[in-house]
Amino acid sequence: MTGLFDDLRDLYQEVILDHGRKPRNFGALEGANREAHGHNPLCGDKLDVRLLVKDGIVEDVKFEGAGCAISVASASLMTTQAKGKTAAEVQALYKNFHEIVTTGKEQEEISDLAAFAGVHAFPARIKCATAKPTRTEPPASESQGRRSPPSVWTLASRP
Ligand code: ZN
Repeated sequence: MTGLFDDLRDLYQEVILDHGRKPRNFGALEGANREAHGHNPLCGDKLDVRLLVKDGIVEDVKFEGAGCAISVASASLMTTQAKGKTAAEVQALYKNFHEIVTTGKEQEEISDLAAFAGVHAFPARIKCATAKPTRTEPPASESQGRRSPPSVWTLASRP
């Protein structure tokens, strides 16, 4: 009876392994006009995300750095999903992704990112998937209630 779920889990692991081994959009981005640096000291992940935003649209996005398979795979997947979207859409995308990673609740519409639903069972790895920035947010954001914590994605896509 658990066959289907085993298959799905294998599929999801395959997505993460695949992106971890062969990250998409990896490298320097010429002419980037947004950037953010993510650092997870617990694991040693250090990733930089750069975006080229033109007329409110993410025209190109790349990341570089080094990290574990989960951090590289999540950055790789986010780059594939972020391209062509507006900055606001990228922030919404990250919000959904953060929800998946922290609660394990999958949302069909964001496809491959649901592969990270299993991460929620490993709290130590959540920071790998969500790539927190090194700089701290202004305290104002703390008072805005249940917001997703900032990540390199929300910071990089901010105008
Ligand atoms: Zn990691």
